[in-house]
Amino acid sequence: MSDGFLTLVPKQDHFEEAEAVAAKVIAWLVSRKIIKPFQADCVLGAPFGYPPDKNSVTVIKDGDSYHFKLITNGLEVRTERTYFQGYESFEPIVIQCPACYTNLIEGLDLMDYYQETLEEKYQSILVQVDKAIDEWYEGKTSIIPCPACGSAESITKYHFESPRGFSNLGFTFWNWSHAFKEDFIQEFEQVLGCPITIVPGVI
Ligand SMILES: [Zn+2]
Repeated sequence: MSDGFLTLVPKQDHFEEAEAVAAKVIAWLVSRKIIKPFQADCVLGAPFGYPPDKNSVTVIKDGDSYHFKLITNGLEVRTERTYFQGYESFEPIVIQCPACYTNLIEGLDLMDYYQETLEEKYQSILVQVDKAIDEWYEGKTSIIPCPACGSAESITKYHFESPRGFSNLGFTFWNWSHAFKEDFIQEFEQVLGCPITIVPGVI
């Protein structure tokens, strides 16, 4: 079985006191009974992480307690300079036309991927992109017409970006869910003191 994660990365590439900020966030999560106050062997990117506590189900979008049944289910905290990326996940936030540089999914938030239904304008582009990728695998020429400038370019010419983050601080939650609730993210940002990027991934 593959393991999925969501990493919350501050949109601040360096903290002078990364460990102190991490400790503040950990103390808050412990006080809310979202994580346990001790570390154990429950993460994949570090020797130890914080196991989930009972209120972890209250901050994830589907409210699922499945992660309690897993061995890899903890919070991994990094306090060294790291380039956080999503490994195999393909959830672009930028699909840019090579001719006019328009982002075809401008305004699409990463969290939108986890909504029941995506807005029609995004849905139709993403369906076209998926189809073009399949066609490319089959050895065909796969063209995506740009809705902004009308240029018909190969999928291979488009520029893609997926979420990633650069910081000496990051919080990776293993196998909790596909998404956190918005109010949890807002509170997290308040405790942290800066906005965050959510980097989802699968290994
Ligand atoms: Zn274009």
